[in-house]
Amino acid sequence: MPLMLNSTLHGRKVEFKPIHEGEVRMYHCGPTVYDYAHIGNFRAFVFSDLLRRYFEYRGYKVKQVMNITDVGHLTTDADEGEDKILVAMRREGLKDPWEVARFYEEKFFEDLDTLDIRRAHHYPRATEMVPEMLECTKKLLEKGNAYEVNGSVYFDVDTFPEYGKLSGNDVARLRAGARLELNPDKRHPYDFALWKQDPSHIMKWDSPWGEGFPGWHLECSVMGTKFLGQPFDIHTGGEDNTFPHHECEIAQAEAAYDKPFVNYWLHVRHLLVDGEKMSKSRGNFYTLRDLLDQGYDRKAIRYQLMVSYYGVNQNFTMDGIGAARRSIDRLNQCIRRLKDMRGEVDNPDFGPLMETARNEFDREMEDDLNVTGAMGKVFEFVTSINKLELSLSQATEALNFFREINGILGVLELSDVEVPEEIMEIIQRREVVRRAKNWAESDKLRDELKELGWAVEDTSTGPVAKRLTHPID
Ligand SMILES: [Zn+2]
Repeated sequence: MPLMLNSTLHGRKVEFKPIHEGEVRMYHCGPTVYDYAHIGNFRAFVFSDLLRRYFEYRGYKVKQVMNITDVGHLTTDADEGEDKILVAMRREGLKDPWEVARFYEEKFFEDLDTLDIRRAHHYPRATEMVPEMLECTKKLLEKGNAYEVNGSVYFDVDTFPEYGKLSGNDVARLRAGARLELNPDKRHPYDFALWKQDPSHIMKWDSPWGEGFPGWHLECSVMGTKFLGQPFDIHTGGEDNTFPHHECEIAQAEAAYDKPFVNYWLHVRHLLVDGEKMSKSRGNFYTLRDLLDQGYDRKAIRYQLMVSYYGVNQNFTMDGIGAARRSIDRLNQCIRRLKDMRGEVDNPDFGPLMETARNEFDREMEDDLNVTGAMGKVFEFVTSINKLELSLSQATEALNFFREINGILGVLELSDVEVPEEIMEIIQRREVVRRAKNWAESDKLRDELKELGWAVEDTSTGPVAKRLTHPID
Protein backbone atom coordinates (compact mmCIF):
# COMPACT_ATOMS: atom_id res chain seq x y z
CA MET A 1 0.00 0.00 0.00
CA PRO A 2 1.29 3.46 -0.83
CA LEU A 3 1.86 6.01 1.91
CA MET A 4 -0.32 9.08 1.39
CA LEU A 5 0.76 12.39 2.87
CA ASN A 6 -1.22 15.62 3.06
CA SER A 7 1.38 17.91 1.56
CA THR A 8 0.70 21.63 1.95
CA LEU A 9 2.51 22.26 -1.33
CA HIS A 10 0.08 20.01 -3.21
CA GLY A 11 -2.94 21.06 -1.15
CA ARG A 12 -4.13 17.43 -0.95
CA LYS A 13 -3.06 13.92 -0.03
CA VAL A 14 -0.46 12.61 -2.42
CA GLU A 15 1.52 9.39 -2.64
CA PHE A 16 4.94 9.62 -1.03
CA LYS A 17 7.77 8.71 -3.38
CA PRO A 18 11.30 9.05 -2.01
CA ILE A 19 14.01 10.69 -4.09
CA HIS A 20 16.48 7.91 -3.24
CA GLU A 21 15.05 4.40 -3.11
CA GLY A 22 14.61 3.20 0.49
CA GLU A 23 15.74 6.52 1.98
CA VAL A 24 13.96 9.53 3.45
CA ARG A 25 15.63 12.88 4.07
CA MET A 26 13.75 15.25 6.35
CA TYR A 27 14.21 18.72 7.79
CA HIS A 28 12.31 20.04 10.80
CA CYS A 29 12.21 23.64 11.98
CA GLY A 30 13.84 23.54 15.40
CA PRO A 31 13.77 25.57 18.59
CA THR A 32 14.71 29.18 19.24
CA VAL A 33 16.93 28.77 22.26
CA TYR A 34 16.01 31.79 24.37
CA ASP A 35 13.49 30.05 26.56
CA TYR A 36 12.19 26.58 27.40
CA ALA A 37 10.21 25.06 24.56
CA HIS A 38 6.51 24.87 25.43
CA ILE A 39 4.23 21.89 24.87
CA GLY A 40 2.88 23.44 21.66
CA ASN A 41 6.45 23.32 20.29
CA PHE A 42 6.71 19.74 21.48
CA ARG A 43 3.68 18.73 19.48
CA ALA A 44 5.72 19.48 16.35
CA PHE A 45 8.89 17.84 17.73
CA VAL A 46 7.01 14.68 18.77
CA PHE A 47 5.48 14.61 15.28
CA SER A 48 8.94 14.69 13.71
CA ASP A 49 9.82 11.69 15.93
CA LEU A 50 6.63 9.88 14.89
CA LEU A 51 7.48 10.45 11.25
CA ARG A 52 11.03 9.22 11.68
CA ARG A 53 10.08 6.12 13.65
CA TYR A 54 7.26 5.34 11.23
CA PHE A 55 9.59 5.46 8.23
CA GLU A 56 12.02 3.22 10.11
CA TYR A 57 9.12 0.84 10.86
CA ARG A 58 8.54 0.67 7.09
CA GLY A 59 12.21 -0.16 6.58
CA TYR A 60 13.45 3.20 5.30
CA LYS A 61 16.84 4.61 6.10
CA VAL A 62 16.07 8.03 7.58
CA LYS A 63 18.21 11.14 7.71
CA GLN A 64 16.91 13.96 9.89
CA VAL A 65 18.12 17.51 10.39
CA MET A 66 16.81 20.09 12.85
CA ASN A 67 18.19 23.61 13.25
CA ILE A 68 19.00 25.42 16.48
CA THR A 69 18.09 29.08 16.11
CA ASP A 70 20.66 30.95 18.19
CA VAL A 71 21.59 34.13 16.31
CA GLY A 72 19.79 36.43 18.68
CA HIS A 73 16.85 37.50 16.57
CA LEU A 74 15.18 40.21 18.54
CA THR A 75 11.86 38.74 19.45
CA THR A 76 9.57 40.35 21.91
CA ASP A 77 7.84 38.23 24.48
CA ALA A 78 4.17 38.78 23.72
CA ASP A 79 3.18 38.67 27.36
CA GLU A 80 6.12 40.39 28.98
CA GLY A 81 6.57 43.03 26.28
CA GLU A 82 10.34 42.82 26.45
CA ASP A 83 13.09 41.25 24.39
CA LYS A 84 13.18 37.52 25.14
CA ILE A 85 16.96 37.34 25.44
CA LEU A 86 17.08 40.11 28.04
CA VAL A 87 14.25 38.46 29.97
CA ALA A 88 16.15 35.15 29.89
CA MET A 89 19.46 36.72 31.01
CA ARG A 90 17.77 38.21 34.04
CA ARG A 91 15.72 35.11 34.84
CA GLU A 92 18.64 32.67 34.72
CA GLY A 93 21.43 35.04 35.80
CA LEU A 94 23.31 34.61 32.51
CA LYS A 95 25.76 37.17 31.21
CA ASP A 96 25.22 37.35 27.45
CA PRO A 97 23.10 36.00 24.58
CA TRP A 98 25.67 33.26 23.86
CA GLU A 99 25.30 31.88 27.38
CA VAL A 100 21.53 32.10 27.08
CA ALA A 101 21.58 30.14 23.81
CA ARG A 102 23.84 27.36 25.17
CA PHE A 103 21.83 27.14 28.38
CA TYR A 104 18.49 26.64 26.63
CA GLU A 105 19.99 24.41 23.96
CA GLU A 106 21.07 22.03 26.73
CA LYS A 107 17.60 22.19 28.28
CA PHE A 108 16.09 21.46 24.88
CA PHE A 109 18.12 18.26 24.52
CA GLU A 110 17.17 17.22 28.06
CA ASP A 111 13.53 17.70 27.12
CA LEU A 112 13.97 15.59 23.97
CA ASP A 113 15.36 12.79 26.14
CA THR A 114 12.51 13.15 28.63
CA LEU A 115 10.06 12.54 25.80
CA ASP A 116 12.19 9.75 24.26
CA ILE A 117 12.45 11.68 21.02
CA ARG A 118 15.18 10.07 18.93
CA ARG A 119 18.05 12.39 18.14
CA ALA A 120 18.19 13.79 14.62
CA HIS A 121 21.39 13.17 12.69
CA HIS A 122 22.38 16.85 12.69
CA TYR A 123 21.45 19.83 14.86
CA PRO A 124 23.28 22.67 13.11
CA ARG A 125 23.42 25.96 15.01
CA ALA A 126 22.63 29.04 12.97
CA THR A 127 25.68 30.78 14.45
CA GLU A 128 27.89 28.09 12.92
CA MET A 129 26.39 28.36 9.43
CA VAL A 130 27.08 32.05 8.80
CA PRO A 131 29.62 31.44 5.97
CA GLU A 132 27.08 29.25 4.12
CA MET A 133 24.38 31.88 4.60
CA LEU A 134 26.68 34.61 3.30
CA GLU A 135 27.43 32.48 0.26
CA CYS A 136 23.73 32.01 -0.53
CA THR A 137 23.09 35.74 -0.07
CA LYS A 138 25.94 36.56 -2.50
CA LYS A 139 24.54 34.12 -5.02
CA LEU A 140 21.08 35.68 -4.85
CA LEU A 141 22.64 39.15 -5.31
CA GLU A 142 24.62 37.96 -8.33
CA LYS A 143 21.53 36.41 -9.87
CA GLY A 144 19.51 39.58 -9.39
CA ASN A 145 17.10 38.07 -6.86
CA ALA A 146 18.31 40.31 -4.05
CA TYR A 147 19.42 43.92 -3.50
CA GLU A 148 21.51 45.71 -0.90
CA VAL A 149 20.46 48.88 0.89
CA ASN A 150 22.38 50.49 3.77
CA GLY A 151 24.17 47.29 4.78
CA SER A 152 21.09 45.07 4.64
CA VAL A 153 20.28 42.63 1.84
CA TYR A 154 16.68 41.88 0.88
CA PHE A 155 15.16 39.21 -1.33
CA ASP A 156 13.22 40.80 -4.19
CA VAL A 157 9.99 38.83 -4.19
CA ASP A 158 9.01 40.21 -7.63
CA THR A 159 11.88 38.19 -9.16
CA PHE A 160 10.36 34.90 -8.00
CA PRO A 161 6.96 34.48 -9.67
CA GLU A 162 6.17 31.31 -7.74
CA TYR A 163 6.24 33.15 -4.41
CA GLY A 164 3.02 32.11 -2.65
CA LYS A 165 2.80 28.59 -4.06
CA LEU A 166 3.00 27.01 -0.61
CA SER A 167 0.70 29.28 1.39
CA GLY A 168 -1.56 30.63 -1.34
CA ASN A 169 -0.52 34.17 -0.35
CA ASP A 170 0.45 35.42 -3.77
CA VAL A 171 2.09 38.76 -4.27
CA ALA A 172 -1.00 40.36 -5.81
CA ARG A 173 -3.05 39.45 -2.77
CA LEU A 174 -0.35 40.61 -0.42
CA ARG A 175 -0.12 43.89 -2.27
CA ALA A 176 -3.86 44.44 -2.06
CA GLY A 177 -4.13 43.70 1.63
CA ALA A 178 -0.65 44.80 2.66
CA ARG A 179 -0.42 45.83 6.25
CA LEU A 180 3.19 44.77 6.54
CA GLU A 181 5.84 46.84 8.25
CA LEU A 182 6.77 49.97 6.35
CA ASN A 183 10.49 49.76 5.87
CA PRO A 184 11.77 52.54 3.58
CA ASP A 185 14.77 50.40 2.58
CA LYS A 186 12.60 47.74 0.95
CA ARG A 187 11.48 48.03 -2.65
CA HIS A 188 8.26 46.28 -1.76
CA PRO A 189 6.83 45.74 1.70
CA TYR A 190 6.77 41.95 1.24
CA ASP A 191 10.49 41.65 0.46
CA PHE A 192 12.35 39.96 3.30
CA ALA A 193 15.83 40.25 4.80
CA LEU A 194 18.60 37.81 3.92
CA TRP A 195 21.14 39.84 5.84
CA LYS A 196 20.37 42.60 8.26
CA GLN A 197 22.27 45.52 9.65
CA ASP A 198 20.99 46.63 13.03
CA PRO A 199 23.36 48.37 15.47
CA SER A 200 21.15 47.37 18.42
CA HIS A 201 21.46 43.64 17.63
CA ILE A 202 23.82 41.95 20.07
CA MET A 203 25.29 39.19 17.87
CA LYS A 204 27.08 40.42 14.75
CA TRP A 205 29.27 39.01 11.99
CA ASP A 206 31.38 40.58 9.26
CA SER A 207 30.03 40.58 5.76
CA PRO A 208 30.75 42.28 2.42
CA TRP A 209 27.98 44.74 3.39
CA GLY A 210 29.29 45.54 6.85
CA GLU A 211 28.53 44.01 10.25
CA GLY A 212 25.16 42.35 10.57
CA PHE A 213 23.32 39.09 11.12
CA PRO A 214 21.53 36.57 8.88
CA GLY A 215 17.77 36.40 8.41
CA TRP A 216 15.86 33.61 10.10
CA HIS A 217 14.35 32.20 6.88
CA LEU A 218 17.82 31.86 5.39
CA GLU A 219 19.13 29.54 8.06
CA CYS A 220 16.57 26.81 7.39
CA SER A 221 16.93 26.72 3.61
CA VAL A 222 20.73 26.81 3.77
CA MET A 223 20.98 24.06 6.40
CA GLY A 224 18.41 21.85 4.70
CA THR A 225 20.26 21.98 1.42
CA LYS A 226 23.69 21.60 3.02
CA PHE A 227 22.89 18.43 4.95
CA LEU A 228 20.19 16.82 2.81
CA GLY A 229 20.86 17.99 -0.75
CA GLN A 230 18.39 19.79 -2.98
CA PRO A 231 15.69 18.77 -3.42
CA PHE A 232 15.14 16.68 -0.29
CA ASP A 233 12.04 14.71 0.63
CA ILE A 234 10.13 16.22 3.54
CA HIS A 235 10.11 19.52 5.45
CA THR A 236 7.96 19.89 8.55
CA GLY A 237 7.06 22.67 10.97
CA GLY A 238 4.18 24.17 12.88
CA GLU A 239 1.37 25.55 10.70
CA ASP A 240 2.19 29.11 11.75
CA ASN A 241 5.52 28.68 9.91
CA THR A 242 3.86 28.15 6.54
CA PHE A 243 3.88 31.87 5.85
CA PRO A 244 6.12 33.73 5.66
CA HIS A 245 8.88 31.42 6.95
CA HIS A 246 8.53 28.39 4.67
CA GLU A 247 7.40 30.45 1.69
CA CYS A 248 10.60 32.48 2.01
CA GLU A 249 12.73 29.33 2.38
CA ILE A 250 11.36 28.06 -0.94
CA ALA A 251 11.98 31.40 -2.68
CA GLN A 252 15.61 31.58 -1.51
CA ALA A 253 16.58 28.00 -2.27
CA GLU A 254 14.83 27.72 -5.62
CA ALA A 255 15.97 31.13 -6.88
CA ALA A 256 19.55 30.42 -5.82
CA TYR A 257 19.87 26.92 -7.26
CA ASP A 258 17.21 26.74 -10.01
CA LYS A 259 15.72 23.48 -8.81
CA PRO A 260 12.93 22.41 -6.46
CA PHE A 261 13.73 22.76 -2.76
CA VAL A 262 11.50 20.17 -1.03
CA ASN A 263 9.05 17.58 -2.39
CA TYR A 264 6.57 17.33 0.53
CA TRP A 265 5.68 19.92 3.16
CA LEU A 266 3.88 18.71 6.29
CA HIS A 267 2.44 21.20 8.75
CA VAL A 268 1.43 20.36 12.29
CA ARG A 269 -1.76 22.13 13.34
CA HIS A 270 -2.07 24.14 16.54
CA LEU A 271 -2.06 22.80 20.04
CA LEU A 272 -4.73 24.35 22.25
CA VAL A 273 -4.78 23.96 26.01
CA ASP A 274 -8.23 23.49 27.53
CA GLY A 275 -9.69 24.62 24.22
CA GLU A 276 -7.80 27.91 24.04
CA LYS A 277 -4.64 29.27 22.51
CA MET A 278 -1.82 28.97 25.00
CA SER A 279 -0.69 32.23 26.62
CA LYS A 280 0.97 33.25 29.84
CA SER A 281 -1.70 35.83 30.59
CA ARG A 282 -4.47 33.22 30.30
CA GLY A 283 -2.62 30.95 32.72
CA ASN A 284 -2.69 27.99 30.33
CA PHE A 285 0.93 28.17 29.20
CA TYR A 286 3.02 25.08 29.98
CA THR A 287 6.56 23.98 29.38
CA LEU A 288 7.33 20.28 29.63
CA ARG A 289 9.01 20.97 32.98
CA ASP A 290 5.87 22.63 34.36
CA LEU A 291 3.93 19.43 33.71
CA LEU A 292 6.60 17.18 35.23
CA ASP A 293 6.75 19.46 38.30
CA GLN A 294 3.03 18.95 38.70
CA GLY A 295 3.59 15.20 38.80
CA TYR A 296 2.48 14.25 35.30
CA ASP A 297 4.14 11.24 33.79
CA ARG A 298 6.50 11.78 30.84
CA LYS A 299 5.35 8.74 28.91
CA ALA A 300 1.72 9.81 29.20
CA ILE A 301 2.65 13.29 27.93
CA ARG A 302 4.51 11.74 25.00
CA TYR A 303 1.55 9.48 24.25
CA GLN A 304 -0.98 12.31 24.38
CA LEU A 305 1.12 14.48 22.05
CA MET A 306 1.84 11.62 19.68
CA VAL A 307 -1.51 9.91 19.38
CA SER A 308 -3.31 12.89 17.91
CA TYR A 309 -3.43 13.20 14.15
CA TYR A 310 -1.17 16.10 13.18
CA GLY A 311 -3.58 17.43 10.55
CA VAL A 312 -6.13 18.73 13.07
CA ASN A 313 -5.81 21.03 16.07
CA GLN A 314 -5.11 19.19 19.28
CA ASN A 315 -6.85 20.08 22.50
CA PHE A 316 -4.34 19.29 25.23
CA THR A 317 -5.85 18.84 28.69
CA MET A 318 -4.69 17.53 32.04
CA ASP A 319 -7.52 14.97 31.92
CA GLY A 320 -6.10 13.91 28.57
CA ILE A 321 -2.75 13.09 30.20
CA GLY A 322 -4.60 10.87 32.69
CA ALA A 323 -6.47 9.16 29.87
CA ALA A 324 -3.17 8.64 28.02
CA ARG A 325 -1.71 6.98 31.13
CA ARG A 326 -4.71 4.63 31.32
CA SER A 327 -4.32 3.73 27.65
CA ILE A 328 -0.66 2.84 28.17
CA ASP A 329 -1.56 0.80 31.27
CA ARG A 330 -4.18 -1.13 29.31
CA LEU A 331 -1.65 -2.02 26.65
CA ASN A 332 0.94 -3.02 29.26
CA GLN A 333 -1.61 -5.21 31.05
CA CYS A 334 -2.33 -7.03 27.82
CA ILE A 335 1.43 -7.46 27.25
CA ARG A 336 1.93 -8.91 30.75
CA ARG A 337 -0.91 -11.38 30.20
CA LEU A 338 0.62 -12.44 26.87
CA LYS A 339 3.99 -13.04 28.51
CA ASP A 340 2.35 -15.51 30.90
CA MET A 341 0.65 -17.55 28.18
CA ARG A 342 2.25 -20.96 27.78
CA GLY A 343 -0.55 -22.94 26.07
CA GLU A 344 0.28 -25.59 23.52
CA VAL A 345 -2.94 -25.51 21.53
CA ASP A 346 -3.52 -22.76 18.99
CA ASN A 347 -6.72 -20.78 19.37
CA PRO A 348 -8.52 -20.75 15.98
CA ASP A 349 -9.90 -17.23 16.58
CA PHE A 350 -6.48 -15.67 16.94
CA GLY A 351 -5.11 -15.78 13.38
CA PRO A 352 -7.79 -13.63 11.72
CA LEU A 353 -7.71 -11.11 14.60
CA MET A 354 -3.95 -10.77 14.34
CA GLU A 355 -4.07 -10.32 10.59
CA THR A 356 -6.81 -7.70 10.83
CA ALA A 357 -4.93 -5.77 13.53
CA ARG A 358 -1.74 -5.63 11.49
CA ASN A 359 -3.49 -4.69 8.27
CA GLU A 360 -5.69 -2.05 9.82
CA PHE A 361 -2.88 -0.50 11.83
CA ASP A 362 -0.87 -0.19 8.63
CA ARG A 363 -3.82 1.09 6.61
CA GLU A 364 -4.57 3.87 9.10
CA MET A 365 -0.91 4.91 9.27
CA GLU A 366 -0.63 4.90 5.49
CA ASP A 367 -3.49 7.39 5.44
CA ASP A 368 -1.39 10.46 6.31
CA LEU A 369 -0.12 8.95 9.59
CA ASN A 370 -3.53 8.76 11.19
CA VAL A 371 -2.13 7.48 14.45
CA THR A 372 -5.44 8.13 16.25
CA GLY A 373 -7.21 5.70 13.94
CA ALA A 374 -4.33 3.23 14.07
CA MET A 375 -4.39 3.09 17.87
CA GLY A 376 -8.17 2.64 17.75
CA LYS A 377 -7.54 -0.57 15.79
CA VAL A 378 -4.89 -1.69 18.29
CA PHE A 379 -7.36 -1.29 21.16
CA GLU A 380 -10.01 -3.29 19.28
CA PHE A 381 -7.40 -6.04 18.98
CA VAL A 382 -6.58 -5.82 22.70
CA THR A 383 -10.26 -6.10 23.65
CA SER A 384 -10.63 -9.20 21.50
CA ILE A 385 -7.51 -11.08 22.57
CA ASN A 386 -8.03 -10.28 26.24
CA LYS A 387 -10.91 -12.78 26.06
CA LEU A 388 -8.84 -15.53 24.47
CA GLU A 389 -6.52 -18.24 25.74
CA LEU A 390 -3.59 -18.41 23.35
CA SER A 391 -0.79 -20.79 22.66
CA LEU A 392 2.80 -19.84 23.39
CA SER A 393 3.52 -19.25 19.72
CA GLN A 394 0.40 -17.09 19.26
CA ALA A 395 1.26 -15.04 22.35
CA THR A 396 4.75 -14.60 20.94
CA GLU A 397 3.30 -13.39 17.67
CA ALA A 398 1.08 -10.86 19.44
CA LEU A 399 4.05 -9.70 21.53
CA ASN A 400 6.08 -9.22 18.36
CA PHE A 401 3.32 -6.98 17.01
CA PHE A 402 3.46 -4.85 20.16
CA ARG A 403 7.23 -4.68 19.83
CA GLU A 404 6.97 -3.44 16.29
CA ILE A 405 4.41 -0.75 17.04
CA ASN A 406 6.34 0.22 20.15
CA GLY A 407 9.20 1.08 17.82
CA ILE A 408 6.91 3.97 16.87
CA LEU A 409 5.12 4.64 20.17
CA GLY A 410 8.09 4.23 22.51
CA VAL A 411 5.95 4.06 25.67
CA LEU A 412 5.25 0.35 26.30
CA GLU A 413 6.90 -1.97 28.82
CA LEU A 414 8.64 -4.53 26.68
CA SER A 415 11.91 -4.52 28.56
CA ASP A 416 12.82 -7.93 27.20
CA VAL A 417 13.48 -6.43 23.77
CA GLU A 418 16.11 -3.98 24.90
CA VAL A 419 19.06 -5.67 23.27
CA PRO A 420 22.52 -4.66 24.56
CA GLU A 421 24.91 -3.30 21.97
CA GLU A 422 27.41 -6.18 22.26
CA ILE A 423 24.58 -8.62 21.50
CA MET A 424 23.39 -6.56 18.53
CA GLU A 425 26.94 -6.48 17.27
CA ILE A 426 27.25 -10.29 17.35
CA ILE A 427 23.84 -10.66 15.68
CA GLN A 428 24.88 -8.33 12.90
CA ARG A 429 28.16 -10.19 12.40
CA ARG A 430 26.24 -13.45 12.26
CA GLU A 431 23.83 -11.99 9.70
CA VAL A 432 26.76 -11.11 7.43
CA VAL A 433 28.29 -14.60 7.54
CA ARG A 434 24.87 -16.24 7.26
CA ARG A 435 24.14 -14.33 4.07
CA ALA A 436 27.50 -15.48 2.78
CA LYS A 437 26.33 -19.03 3.60
CA ASN A 438 29.21 -19.52 5.99
CA TRP A 439 27.22 -21.87 8.24
CA ALA A 440 30.11 -22.94 10.46
CA GLU A 441 30.88 -19.37 11.48
CA SER A 442 27.16 -18.58 11.80
CA ASP A 443 26.69 -21.51 14.22
CA LYS A 444 29.72 -20.46 16.18
CA LEU A 445 28.26 -16.98 16.69
CA ARG A 446 24.90 -18.49 17.63
CA ASP A 447 26.66 -20.50 20.37
CA GLU A 448 28.43 -17.38 21.50
CA LEU A 449 25.05 -15.64 21.86
CA LYS A 450 23.66 -18.61 23.76
CA GLU A 451 26.46 -18.41 26.26
CA LEU A 452 25.56 -14.76 26.83
CA GLY A 453 21.92 -15.74 27.39
CA TRP A 454 20.53 -14.77 23.99
CA ALA A 455 18.95 -16.53 21.05
CA VAL A 456 18.42 -15.28 17.55
CA GLU A 457 15.49 -16.05 15.31
CA ASP A 458 15.77 -15.51 11.56
CA THR A 459 12.54 -13.96 10.31
CA SER A 460 11.48 -12.63 6.91
CA THR A 461 12.19 -9.09 8.15
CA GLY A 462 15.64 -9.93 9.54
CA PRO A 463 17.09 -11.44 12.70
CA VAL A 464 15.20 -10.95 15.98
CA ALA A 465 17.00 -11.21 19.32
CA LYS A 466 15.42 -13.07 22.21
CA ARG A 467 16.56 -13.32 25.78
CA LEU A 468 16.77 -16.97 26.82
CA THR A 469 15.87 -16.40 30.44
CA HIS A 470 12.46 -15.03 29.53
CA PRO A 471 9.44 -17.33 30.00
CA ILE A 472 8.30 -16.93 26.37
CA ASP A 473 11.47 -18.67 25.29
ZN1 LIG B 1 12.61 26.92 9.83
